[in-house]
Amino acid sequence: MSGGGIRPATSFTSAARETLKNRTLRANLGFATRTICAKRERVVDEIEDWQATRSAGAALKDHALANLEENLLLLEKQVEAAGGTVHWAATAQEAVEIVAKIARSHRISEVVKVKSITSDEIELNDSLKKQGIEAIETDLAELICQLADDSPSHILVPAIHKNREEIRQLFATKLGVEIESSEPHRLAEVARLHLREKFLTAKMAVSGANFAVASTGSIGIVESEGNGRMCLTLPDILVTIMGIEKVLPEWSDVATLMRLLPRSSTAERMNPYTSVWTGVTPGDGPQEFHLILLDNGRTNVLDDPVGRQTLRCIRCSACLNVCPVYQRVGGHAYGSVYPGPIGAILTPQLLAMADENANTLPFASSMCGACYEACPVKINIPEVLAYLRGKTHKQPVELAAFQVAYWVMSDSRRFSAALRGKRIGASVASMFGLVKGWTDSREMPEVPAESFRDWWRKRDR
Ligand code: SF4
Repeated sequence: MSGGGIRPATSFTSAARETLKNRTLRANLGFATRTICAKRERVVDEIEDWQATRSAGAALKDHALANLEENLLLLEKQVEAAGGTVHWAATAQEAVEIVAKIARSHRISEVVKVKSITSDEIELNDSLKKQGIEAIETDLAELICQLADDSPSHILVPAIHKNREEIRQLFATKLGVEIESSEPHRLAEVARLHLREKFLTAKMAVSGANFAVASTGSIGIVESEGNGRMCLTLPDILVTIMGIEKVLPEWSDVATLMRLLPRSSTAERMNPYTSVWTGVTPGDGPQEFHLILLDNGRTNVLDDPVGRQTLRCIRCSACLNVCPVYQRVGGHAYGSVYPGPIGAILTPQLLAMADENANTLPFASSMCGACYEACPVKINIPEVLAYLRGKTHKQPVELAAFQVAYWVMSDSRRFSAALRGKRIGASVASMFGLVKGWTDSREMPEVPAESFRDWWRKRDR
């Protein structure tokens, strides 16, 4: 398994059935998500106006999306005024071809990468490889996945499914380094020595972006390891691939989002490294800068009045960590670089609800609402899940059943009569296996001998 992409190879149910068999995965995930959630709760509780800040985050993203065209055109103008080049990519293939063309024009065969989920979305690594260009991941967890020929399973902690001992063995095999212990500092040291050489020799870097500010043409990345700083300053050429929804009109918008993002993602008050650059600066840092603005289905999502809130996402991954489904099945079950609750709504929409396997993702939820509570920009994920389920699940029998239920429940006499007949109905349904899908994994609730209305009528007054 390698690369990434957003097209699941199988349905969520089949994939989850497989991953659920992996006890180590569940133990690793359970430990990691519990730890992150507990830390997140502590730092979120420190902010008195957390709910108001969430509302502000949602409002500013909605405002930016409502003026998306205007913001993008201003961004393009400002980036070019600062010496950068802006490319527009309607599809993943177009974006990949732009990156490859830039590399080829400089005879580059190796690039370093940072913050790369958007590049994973377009399967950049595999596509570049076919053209003789090697892409080297520099985020520690991404590097682990790359060395293991594995795909990321979490937005923020891509190797969350691996424990320290697995990583020690992987480094020993793939990097040829004998490591006496699996202590985090020792593993990090091995990765640092391996990557340092790459940073110093790479001529080109490819990055993602956390945000872009239209008014100044600036791009920003937040990260924890310092590898971003290396990638963004040492190579001669920098190519940034950014989803079009990341643009914000003003710096004041960034200030609000930066109160929300580190707390929701790594459970920190402030992230360790925030890098911002505007075009090119003569004699300092990369002397060639390309910004690729990627659509790849986003304008279709924007077109949908219910689904468009999905584009508020700032990829913090809080919704993954709190999700009882994600905690058990892990990221690979979603078959997309966007796992968890956000993946369950983003992936099918990016694929225009036209991919059979992706359309099973909205069912990967218990609808408990924990994701909505955790989301720093208030994306109502359960609402979008229910909406997408309605779009994909056109079961005539189920639809007819709900229509009958609606007819019965909309009249009190019909409803009372139905309650009296329910005991018989439930027995018939069980007898003929009509509720087998339900009772395979649950017990049929017992129907009380007497309805509440009958009891109310008879009770002592
Ligand atoms: S949907 Fe919300 S909680 Fe989930 S990754 Fe996006 S911003 Fe974070």
